[in-house]
Amino acid sequence: QCITHCPVGALHERDDTEKVFRAIADPNKVVVAQVAPAVRAAWGEALGLSREEATVGKIMDSLKRLGVDYVFDTTFSADLTIMEEGNEFLQRFTKGELKLRPMFTSCCPGWVRFIKSQYPHLVPQLSTAKSPQQMFGAVMKTYFAESIGVKPENIYTLSIMPCVAKKGERNMELFYKEYAGNDIDAVLTTRELTRMIRSSHISPSTLVDRECDPLMKEGSGAGVIFGATGGVMEAALRSAHYLVTGKNPEPDAFKIVRSPSFETGVIEAEVQLGSATVKAAVVSGLGNTRKLLEAIEHGEVHYDFVEVMACPGGCVGGGGQPIHDGEELAHERGENLYFLDTNAPLRFSHENPDVQKLYSDYMEKPLSHKAHMLLHTDHNAWEMPKA
Ligand code: SF4
Repeated sequence: QCITHCPVGALHERDDTEKVFRAIADPNKVVVAQVAPAVRAAWGEALGLSREEATVGKIMDSLKRLGVDYVFDTTFSADLTIMEEGNEFLQRFTKGELKLRPMFTSCCPGWVRFIKSQYPHLVPQLSTAKSPQQMFGAVMKTYFAESIGVKPENIYTLSIMPCVAKKGERNMELFYKEYAGNDIDAVLTTRELTRMIRSSHISPSTLVDRECDPLMKEGSGAGVIFGATGGVMEAALRSAHYLVTGKNPEPDAFKIVRSPSFETGVIEAEVQLGSATVKAAVVSGLGNTRKLLEAIEHGEVHYDFVEVMACPGGCVGGGGQPIHDGEELAHERGENLYFLDTNAPLRFSHENPDVQKLYSDYMEKPLSHKAHMLLHTDHNAWEMPKA
């Protein structure tokens, strides 16, 4: 396939390491970084670290040693995404808006570009929630910037992602006009991060576990599994169950959505949320997604809520991850994320104390006016580039 016609923009790789080194060296910039869940499952592969050695704490240490001022974990904003997207789903579902077609997740820019270019009439079915990357950028330039007394224009937001398409997503048109520019100023892939570590002569064996900085420190196991196919759906169902019934389900109650069928790449699940039955589906890989959309459009299947990830296996298999000739490690990396979730002290996004504090001190509640301005988007605000 021709690089200039890649429908998801995932083939337009650009090296941003020099740009990030310049921002770190700029005395007027406060560099604030976030690290996506899937990065922790793969970054050590390129540096010769074992799975046990390649902790997320050591990624935080490497960023601080590169000169980044504040470091955070995208699991925080994955939890925030669940609060917004989960509430949006329940609102649209109870209003009867999903009787004909489902609500689709919107956190994968490869998928958002695909639906915009191939099925534009389905764009209104996308959740309006921004992705965790974009939400975190918006929160860093407002809530966090205010807390440290820095103007938004002096905050330089950096994200470390498993994904090349996230570089395009950062150019998304903003709703909120109180700061100039973008939610995110630079995106580095997992491969670019490891190149920066190497070129700065940081020896991986000297890295130590370092905690995230305060205010947005916590992330739940539900946020961690965002990096694997089915993870967003499972995290959303855990919190939707709580929102509907007032009680937490067993943390693994919805694990049926973890492993889509190898042949179709799709899993279907009928789950009970209080008295309501919700039909959910999870799909990864755009070929599988096209088949699923055709089945929906031809009335062969009906779902209320569908999670789509462009990369087979989800972000753990993203285009910015280390590449091993002839080997596909997405499944193994996904297992690693589920292991981290099982052992996490927090398993529910709605129990994240830093997310609760963000709402009580700043956003008021999910889907509030401020939350809409900062955490949601209009998918029609930007046009697909002409081929
Ligand atoms: Fe990026 Fe792939 Fe994850 Fe989509 S599934 S956000 S394209 S890494």
